[in-house]
Amino acid sequence: MASAKENNFNNLPKIIYIMGTARSGSTILEILLENGKYAFGAGEVIHIPRDAFLKNNKCSCCNNCHDCNIWGQIYKKFCLSENELTNWINIQKQIDSHFGEIKLLSGLISKQNIAKYKKLNLQLIKYIYQETGCSFLIDSSKYAGRAFAMDKIAPGHVFTICLTRSPAGLLHTFQKPNKSEQKPKKPISVLMYYIVSLSALKLASLTLKNRPLYMTYEELIKSPINSMEKIEKWYGLDLINTKIKIMQKGFFTAKHIVTGNRLRKQKKIQFKSSLGEYKLKGAEKRIVLSIMIFWKKILNF
Ligand SMILES: [Zn+2]
Repeated sequence: MASAKENNFNNLPKIIYIMGTARSGSTILEILLENGKYAFGAGEVIHIPRDAFLKNNKCSCCNNCHDCNIWGQIYKKFCLSENELTNWINIQKQIDSHFGEIKLLSGLISKQNIAKYKKLNLQLIKYIYQETGCSFLIDSSKYAGRAFAMDKIAPGHVFTICLTRSPAGLLHTFQKPNKSEQKPKKPISVLMYYIVSLSALKLASLTLKNRPLYMTYEELIKSPINSMEKIEKWYGLDLINTKIKIMQKGFFTAKHIVTGNRLRKQKKIQFKSSLGEYKLKGAEKRIVLSIMIFWKKILNF
């Protein structure tokens, strides 16, 4: 008979966790990876209890989540009340944040909540596996805290891609409104965001059991085939179909992604290798940019 420990994780999929800064291409990377063999793209898994189960938002398969043939089935299996879901969402918010790892290490989160987090997340992975049969589960939640926490509850099963964007690229992209999903940020807010998120990413990277694969948005966009090959070598995920589609300029479609940027809602997604120009005018932006570059160097990113 299998021991309780084996029941926890044996035969379950590898988790490929995309952590990183916002607006750095996590949704497009998720869509490229979910086209890999035996892969399932679950999107930003931290938001599944809220967006899929509680709010019943639209999945990229066009069904509302309760009627989606993956999330609907998983929702039924969980059979949680509204209160239980809200409780789960709150625990997730505490642990999966930028500095969730500090909260966990310093004992700020109760043992009871840690146990619930573990039970619910393992159950979620198990149900995803039962519904999809996947060998690779792609989770693009981005938060460093989740990489740390998941690595603790499923040691050895979490493989992380640390996806960041150049300081100039981030400053540039945060100036633009992102069609109702995110508002533009002032340069000083981008700076604060960058310092906090990069530090959290660094801290998580140092503690993970499997060393993360570092990638930048610029690298992914300019050399997608190379980037896919790096991931293939690192995690053993077969991305031949993805590479062919990129080379033939074919169309991708997000399958069952519930939370992510607006790309997931498009019927036909074509990978474009053009970066565009980063326009940064004004003294404030130049000062912020130089501090961001300095911080990046300090953390050795
Ligand atoms: Zn769906």
